[in-house]
Amino acid sequence: MTSGSSAALSCADSALAPARRPLLRHPLAVRCGIAFLFGVLAAGAAPGQLVERVVDGDTIIVEGVGRVRLIGVDTPETVHPNQPVEFFGKEASAFTRRLVEGKRVRLEYDSDRTDRYGRTLAYVYLPNGTFVNAEIIRRGYGHAYTRFPFQHMETFRQLEREARNGRRGLWGDVVGGTNPRASASPETRRPAGGAATVYVTRTGRKYHREGCRFLSKSKIPIKRNDAADRYEPCGVCKPD
Ligand SMILES: [Zn+2]
Repeated sequence: MTSGSSAALSCADSALAPARRPLLRHPLAVRCGIAFLFGVLAAGAAPGQLVERVVDGDTIIVEGVGRVRLIGVDTPETVHPNQPVEFFGKEASAFTRRLVEGKRVRLEYDSDRTDRYGRTLAYVYLPNGTFVNAEIIRRGYGHAYTRFPFQHMETFRQLEREARNGRRGLWGDVVGGTNPRASASPETRRPAGGAATVYVTRTGRKYHREGCRFLSKSKIPIKRNDAADRYEPCGVCKPD
């Protein structure tokens, strides 16, 4: 598959040869003009739409479309205003960013075109055929999100099972964190130093050790270093 930029170059090159002679008086302006013209044409002809930015692991901004939520995949939260970053949230965002940011993608839709937040719901494909929604689950950077039915649900469920069995990504042995959704036993966790896991609650302003009585209502794992930036250590369980 030809990428947008190489198409633009080859178009501009072939066009420059015949155009050069009669327009020698302003060679730079001409070159720029031709490059621009063919850049526009190539962009129009290039497959797919530009991913301007990755918001988090399952949400991207696509040129001309706006906010796009990937159908059927749920990655750990990184940008919720009232909650701390979830385990593996940063890794999931980074993975999606590496995969699609600045690239042209093809969008496909299911029965619902938007969600209740007005985001466009889509399946995202790279020019090389990579199915981005599925790839995130396959590599263990997100869950199959099966609350609402969708076309690829069974495939995504299967991919999640495989990722889990293969201990990929967030299903893997946890270093410096605990994952409430993975089945890692306490013995496989290896917290160390500032990367050790502490816990916060949905509403509280303090962080706690595992087992603290203030964690009875909610208990959200967070790395010790991240907690220290935004929360106070609990005076009862003294997590420091
Ligand atoms: Zn405590």
